[in-house]
Amino acid sequence: MRIVLLGAPGSGKGTQAQRLAERNGIPQISTGDLLRAAVARGTALGLAAKAAMEGGRLVDDALVLGMIRERLGEPDVRAGFILDGFPRNLIQAAALDGLLAELGQPLDAVVQFEVDSAELVRRISGRRSCADCGRVFNVLTSPPPTGAAAMCPGTGAPHRLIQRADDNEATVAERLRVYDEKTRPLIDFYRARGLLRTIDAAGEVNAVTQRLARALAPAAPAAAARVRKGAAKSAARAKSAARAAKSRRPGTRATARRAKSARKKTPARAARKKHAAAMRSRRSGARRRTRR
Ligand code: AMP
Repeated sequence: MRIVLLGAPGSGKGTQAQRLAERNGIPQISTGDLLRAAVARGTALGLAAKAAMEGGRLVDDALVLGMIRERLGEPDVRAGFILDGFPRNLIQAAALDGLLAELGQPLDAVVQFEVDSAELVRRISGRRSCADCGRVFNVLTSPPPTGAAAMCPGTGAPHRLIQRADDNEATVAERLRVYDEKTRPLIDFYRARGLLRTIDAAGEVNAVTQRLARALAPAAPAAAARVRKGAAKSAARAKSAARAAKSRRPGTRATARRAKSARKKTPARAARKKHAAAMRSRRSGARRRTRR
């Protein structure tokens, strides 16, 4: 599975990407997470990205593309990947196309998460993540579970919840504006390539997970449904041809002829006809012998 999750900040891409990654045993590649880690480590990339991130603007394409090229070259990506927060503009999308073509790993699908802006702001204000394992929660919609099974896998202690520096009111407004201007055009970009699937990402997290699973379900059931529909249509056509042959209604002679010739062609019917002819000739032979 090689997919891109596309959606505004707060649309739930990160949460769903985590679930999908765990379920499928493939990595979630979040450029936001990679950049935050670089900022935290104080690397050259982190220092260059910090100001743009704090302002809610996009980090320079060359930096992000260098980082993603390196990540997609790692061995765990061969089993598939979920891109979360990348690509963010048309330049990145075109570069991703080229990179994946080079790797011989084209995308299977791009899922667009649809959520209205009031809900986006509400979700972002409740968003918290664990400082140790990075898991994302929402104090309003999906708080961390309690009990022994709900400990941080990194420390074995309860999750230490922190709020992202850019999840404040002013930065959120800018991030939503940047999404509309730079990222939204990717919807048409991927629709034109036949890769786009859209889901309603509002509402309860588990319900969104189910909608996402349905959107990603293989094309096979759809193809099977098409085959079933085709078979039903041919059966209906055969029935109406047979009815026409029976009633010999004017204007339906051609259909009746087709039905008759279709009947002629079945091997069982040919065998029955051959047998009846043999019986007729045997009976007439017997009559001739009796007359003599
Ligand atoms: P996110 O966690 O995806 O909301 O990203 C947080 C911030 O990281 C964004 O507001 C950008 O400043 C930066 N960022 C993340 N992904 C990208 C990207 N693909 N291109 C440019 N900047 C990015």
